[in-house]
Amino acid sequence: MFETTAFDAHHPPDQDLIDDCVHCGFCLPTCPTYVLWGEEMDSPRGRIVLMDRGLDPGSDMSAEMVTHFDRCLGCMACVTACPSGVQYDKLIEATRPQVERNHHRSLSERLWRSVLFAAFTHPARLRAVAPLLAAYRRSGVPAALGASGLLDRFPRLGAMERLTPPVSAGAMTRRLPELIPAAGVKRARVGLLQGCVQRVFFHHVNEATVRVLVADGFEVVAPASVRCCGALMLHSGYEAKSFALAKKMIRAFEDCDYVAVNAAGCGSSMKDYGHLMRDDPEWSTAAQAFSDKVRDVTELLEDFGPVAERHPVPLTIAYHDACHLAHAQGVRSQPRDLLRRIPELGLTEPAEWEVCCGSAGIYNLLQPEAGAELGRRKAANLLATKAQAVAAGNPGCTLQITRHLEEQGEEIPVYHPVELLDMSIRGASRPDSSIRRASAGDGAHRAGAGPGDREGDDGPTPEGGAGGVGRRRGSPTGEERP
Ligand code: SF4
Ligand code: SF4
Repeated sequence: MFETTAFDAHHPPDQDLIDDCVHCGFCLPTCPTYVLWGEEMDSPRGRIVLMDRGLDPGSDMSAEMVTHFDRCLGCMACVTACPSGVQYDKLIEATRPQVERNHHRSLSERLWRSVLFAAFTHPARLRAVAPLLAAYRRSGVPAALGASGLLDRFPRLGAMERLTPPVSAGAMTRRLPELIPAAGVKRARVGLLQGCVQRVFFHHVNEATVRVLVADGFEVVAPASVRCCGALMLHSGYEAKSFALAKKMIRAFEDCDYVAVNAAGCGSSMKDYGHLMRDDPEWSTAAQAFSDKVRDVTELLEDFGPVAERHPVPLTIAYHDACHLAHAQGVRSQPRDLLRRIPELGLTEPAEWEVCCGSAGIYNLLQPEAGAELGRRKAANLLATKAQAVAAGNPGCTLQITRHLEEQGEEIPVYHPVELLDMSIRGASRPDSSIRRASAGDGAHRAGAGPGDREGDDGPTPEGGAGGVGRRRGSPTGEERP
């Protein structure tokens, strides 16, 4: 008689990849969940054993199995650490959609996930709530909720409240031009993924990215129609929905030489779509061609080398490795090299660089206690460097680290590396913006409140402005920053 397994027939975890694991345990000290709990089944090795068991005839997708898979952050630190080259990334990538297809989640769990995806993958919806968020921040409600302890009783809601950045409604509604010419000789045509969360909450990073690319000779195409790359859904096992988003993105960037990404989580998925759509007869070729063009913005800039002059930025920066950049994409040296080219900028390295900050897409909203514990640990390691600021190449990391620095009584700014490079190219005395918590009564994001701030310092524009993107204050559309 034919016996079923925990996994259905559509891309179950590959037995050959499972068999590559020799159970040596070298990956264990870098696995955040093993570091937290010391449980074998919450380690890469343990999860691989569970996948193996799931392939046994007669096995089913047990609740216990799902718990251990759900607790995995997908940080891929185990991939970096493994001396046997075990492709845990491919294994967990195959496992997540299997969980969603073959395990029945509770109603509350399904509702919470639906809310997160309905909000975070739709920039228009995020923008619609912008005025409400700004008003909420200005009110005394956040402080009152914190003091009441109410949010502690609903940890997922509490995590979301604490992670939401205090940006103004105006900052959330700015737009990039869709085509920005290169300054000087054009070296390549580059598509820029504006992202969903990135576009709304970190528009200033997108603006800095455009200024830097333009100054270094790239024509930038930033289509507003590309809503989201689908990474948040993909990392949670919602494969079909993520593919639908990915296909729109693939079409939109077909005529670009490269696609630049400034959000590590998005970049790792975008580089993977070629593999993930490998057996789709209509899309496999286009998806692979697209993945081959994707570069993290630091990777692209380092591959081509600098054009625009770099001016001093006298800051000591602790560099935080975003897991989806360092582990999932193997991009570690490029952001560091890019920052080291900035005169007078000092780089420091925190302890436990390889251990995730607990953000991991929406992990900190699905597993808030574990996410917070890792966030506190990361903040403490960053503070121990005594750096004046932190650099991180992923919006989720920025929000998570900012929250936990603040909770430890510190408000050192967290910048994207391109913000620092933008500052250097412009010869400005401060980055264009940073994510900092507003003090009580501010009610809004304090733009550029980094070391050496000078209110109203517009600084030079890159190569004459390039379509207005180089304006120091305000967006390409001319709107002033808060
Ligand atoms: S995944 Fe790699 S490092 Fe971890 S136990 Fe298996 S072989 Fe060893
Ligand atoms: S991806 Fe990260 S959390 Fe998951 S098993 Fe590997 S190291 Fe652990």
